[in-house]
Amino acid sequence: MDISWLRKKISNLLPCNARCRRYESLFVVFDGIDGAGKSTQIAMLRDFLIARGSSVFCTRDPGSTPLGDAIREILLHREDIPLAMTSEMLLYMAARAQLVDEQIRPALERKDIVLCDRFLLANVVYQGCAGGLSVETLWQVGQVATGGLMPDVTIILDLDVEKAASRMQRGLDRLEKRGRDYFQRVRDGFRSQLPRCTGATLLVDADRSPEIIHCEILSKIENLLG
Ligand code: ADP
Repeated sequence: MDISWLRKKISNLLPCNARCRRYESLFVVFDGIDGAGKSTQIAMLRDFLIARGSSVFCTRDPGSTPLGDAIREILLHREDIPLAMTSEMLLYMAARAQLVDEQIRPALERKDIVLCDRFLLANVVYQGCAGGLSVETLWQVGQVATGGLMPDVTIILDLDVEKAASRMQRGLDRLEKRGRDYFQRVRDGFRSQLPRCTGATLLVDADRSPEIIHCEILSKIENLLG
């Protein structure tokens, strides 16, 4: 879809120095329940930043490394392998440790802007708030897994559980099959844990058009960097 007119409009509202800025070395995480629009917003922000001349590195957690992809396959698709909640949590942590080491730190050192689909907060929420593990333990183990690297910006796309489910047009993976109550706890968990994230945070009402959401995200990022 062509939203160049909207980008131009928001760009014209910005001070000249912000309009001309070429952003660099920023770690931005998108999160929220499946179907909330993370991939859509990451793609829109990526295109916007590239058009501004920034180097952008897009990644997802778990995944994006050979180890991460193998773990992702087990976590989401190997339903023949039983997984206790603690094992599930540690597999996410292992994939993240590798992702940080192999991809995210080098990208930030290259001065790229990193756009990451999910990160530690999702682990805290899915296996802690919704899965019953200790939220405090998850934050602590997360510190070990990430080596203390936390996002500069965390954006949560917040959407009603039924609406998010109705947007999904594909077969559901192991986690997505956990049902409405689980996902309600996930949604509530994102809202309750977001204030604990270091860096800037943004809770976005995702029940609006992709273009309006994109503009709200842009204005937050412009504000932060301005
Ligand atoms: P996620 O990555 O969070 O699972 P996606 O970005 O893949 O979500 O979006 C899930 C589906 O919803 C896609 O078909 C996408 O086109 C659609 N979608 C994304 N954002 C919106 C929106 N704001 N309003 C309506 N549909 C949307």
